[in-house]
Amino acid sequence: MYHFFVSYTKRENEVQEVYPLIMEFVEELKAAGFTAAPLFFDLYRIGFNKYYEAELKDELKNAIANSVCMISFVSPGYIESDWCIFEWKTIEMEKEYPLILPLIWKDIDWKEAEFKLNLYRLPESKRMVYPKFLDYFIPPRIKLESAHYHYYYPIEMHNDKLGLERSLRESYDFINSRTKKRTRKWRWIFGVTFLSIILTIITQIGGIILLVSLSLNPLIKRKIEKRGYRILARISCFLAFYLLATFLIVPIIAKPLGRVALPIFKQQKLKPLNFLTCLLNRHYVKPEMKEIALNIATDMNRRFPGTTLNYLEANFPFINGFPLIPHLSHNDGRKLDLAFAYISKETGLSTNATPSPFGYGICEEPRENETNTALLCSSQGRWQYSLLKKFMPQSRKAQFIFDSTRTKAIVNAFAVKNNIGKIFIEPHLKTRLHLTNDKIRFHGCQAVRHDDHIHVQLK
Ligand SMILES: [Zn+2]
Repeated sequence: MYHFFVSYTKRENEVQEVYPLIMEFVEELKAAGFTAAPLFFDLYRIGFNKYYEAELKDELKNAIANSVCMISFVSPGYIESDWCIFEWKTIEMEKEYPLILPLIWKDIDWKEAEFKLNLYRLPESKRMVYPKFLDYFIPPRIKLESAHYHYYYPIEMHNDKLGLERSLRESYDFINSRTKKRTRKWRWIFGVTFLSIILTIITQIGGIILLVSLSLNPLIKRKIEKRGYRILARISCFLAFYLLATFLIVPIIAKPLGRVALPIFKQQKLKPLNFLTCLLNRHYVKPEMKEIALNIATDMNRRFPGTTLNYLEANFPFINGFPLIPHLSHNDGRKLDLAFAYISKETGLSTNATPSPFGYGICEEPRENETNTALLCSSQGRWQYSLLKKFMPQSRKAQFIFDSTRTKAIVNAFAVKNNIGKIFIEPHLKTRLHLTNDKIRFHGCQAVRHDDHIHVQLK
């Protein structure tokens, strides 16, 4: 049983434009599991098979008899076509109340239409306009230029107007649900792609882990019915895979490729200031950098008992040239950022805590008599130079005093190491701390300010 029999002539070029659209529509119905599509379209149903004329006529007759309604694209060519006339006459003969929706999309000779099709032009005042029927039939995206059509519906030919409307409504609802499903599918693909890109940018491995964890999706779909629980299961799967990879698998793979993880927990007095650095796989360096950092941390602790060296962002575990956004230069395992040392204002004693939870964005500003590089860079239009400071809440700053002694000791300890090539710190702090080593440089206005952290890199 079909909802529609699509009747048209192949003589008109314009109608040929309808082919791919209807075919696509019908293919979708097929993909959705409709073995009997509610639409008879000859190219799909009959294809290019060669039929004897009588055979083809039988085939068409059968289809028309099994269709609720016929949609006829009426044009001068249609009226001239024996096949079209045959289809029109067939439905008139086969049905007690033939339902035809004629779409007159080109000016026709009404005398001929009357003679051949029994199709009358209604006087203007009596023309019934049913544009919504077209909306039912043709989904919005394949709607043709409505200006091509004169929609009207010679009502006296169709007694079962309600039946037609019902049939069209069913198709409309079906098409609508398909469109919704397709929209959901595309939203899903877009969402997953977007999320994997974001996860790759933030954690390097997160995007791949997300795709791997999605392989369990069919299983989750089968086992869990409720949508909420499904989402929960998907998130749990991703997290389990991610944690397993981050803490067990990635360190093993990264090592032979030349990068090692810095200690996650307090070990030989070197630790991440924020655990998130490790959770996001941003704590990988070349083995020699790890060795230097560990040595200096031990040394610092010996000289200043109780001190731990806080590291900030380092590098991702894999691929030279893969930037650790927003640190563009941290892309080869040779770079490491370190937190400044501070004194607690409340106790007056050294502390391993820092005003900024991430170590960035709370600056030891230049004093009045010192060079103000931030101002200089901003005046050159380098808007990014002090950007982080704008986002970081400054409320904890008042609880800390910059510890120049220990910070100077950290910088100098790195500076004297042979393998260290450069150290970046803001010029006013270099002057204030009397740092004289040549390796201690100004990083340039294209970077970000370094009066909140120290950047060290291997040669
Ligand atoms: Zn850095």
